[in-house]
Amino acid sequence: MTFENTKSPILFTGIKCTVLLLTIAACISNPVFGQSKKIAKLPPNASLTDGVWLKGDLHVHSRHSKESSNNPVAKIISFSRSVGMDYLCITDHDNHVDGDVAHNTWADPEFKSDSLLLLYGAEWTTTRGHGNVFSAKPYDHKRLYDVRDQRDTVIGRVKNELGIHLSANHPSGKDHFGYSYDIIESIEVWNSAVWSRNANAIMIWDDMLSSGRKLTGRGGSDAHHGNPDTPDKATANSGQAKANYVGTPTTWVFAVKRTTQAVVDALTNGRVSISANPYAPRVEFYADLNVDGKMDMMMGDNAKATGKPVKFRVQLTGNALPEGNYTINIVKNGSKFGTYQVTGKTPAVEFTDTPAITGRSYYRVTVEGPATSYPQVPQSMALSGSMVGLSNPICFNFDPNF
Ligand SMILES: [Zn+2]
Ligand SMILES: [Zn+2]
Repeated sequence: MTFENTKSPILFTGIKCTVLLLTIAACISNPVFGQSKKIAKLPPNASLTDGVWLKGDLHVHSRHSKESSNNPVAKIISFSRSVGMDYLCITDHDNHVDGDVAHNTWADPEFKSDSLLLLYGAEWTTTRGHGNVFSAKPYDHKRLYDVRDQRDTVIGRVKNELGIHLSANHPSGKDHFGYSYDIIESIEVWNSAVWSRNANAIMIWDDMLSSGRKLTGRGGSDAHHGNPDTPDKATANSGQAKANYVGTPTTWVFAVKRTTQAVVDALTNGRVSISANPYAPRVEFYADLNVDGKMDMMMGDNAKATGKPVKFRVQLTGNALPEGNYTINIVKNGSKFGTYQVTGKTPAVEFTDTPAITGRSYYRVTVEGPATSYPQVPQSMALSGSMVGLSNPICFNFDPNF
């Protein structure tokens, strides 16, 4: 007895020291971004061809938000259809209806469409900032509203139980997102037509990506005001409809099919790019892992780095102005990596790089060039300036269990 009692504490301390040493060794062997865990085999990426590109707006306020004007649901839906949108999420302020969006926005007889995929959502409007919810089907939004002042762990659990996608809105502006980025799936990196206001949101996104959070970057016009039907209906804010409305910017998703669930899934997975408006070219970003001439992954995808070179391809699809010169900027791990000038009907560029075999790497793209005309929102072009579009990252060694 006496012998055992004196031995065991020493043995115990010995085990603790070994664990500590192993932990330190793991940290040293994998120093990039401080990543210490070894990534298991990653699941294969989905098909690059079995799917459909769908465009829409993920942040629009209707008359169910108290500060909106001339913006009934039917007007938003018919406008969206007229400019070729495929999906839409009307995100009214939940605090304006005490969290009961189900009996307001969603119960509005105008909340229906034969051709447009209507997501269910709301702007979670709290003292700690704003976030958008996206859901393929109705959910109990009141539950999320009711926990808004609780700890992030509680909110995250409720969000998971509801099965919804939660997204940080205008994260660096007024009403920034004051919650943990561990409880969200995406971040609004392009809010409204005024592109220049988004610089800090992009910086936060790069920080989060560098931390291993594979957050999807998405857009949202945050439009509140429609064109008045008659001049006497005009308000002090009516002019905004000509500068910022549905589609400024436009978020493209590569969905496996044309359903609301596929749109939300694509958003969560990051197969997403953002364009200045519905007519501007779409940025597509692919990678060929084994350099066999066939692309294997696209933006939002994640693969294990092999230590061999990877060929990347950036392409502008759609209404690229044939005489336009576009500047493609590549960002790698938050820093400028390369700049290319492209032109033509389908401007494209390829480049090669070798993602580090240890630690995480990501590559993303921004495109600048001539503004594409958006006659329905004519003043938006000047506000977006030369910003044409941006991609989501292609990722290496991101742990899906972050
Ligand atoms: Zn907001
Ligand atoms: Zn808003």
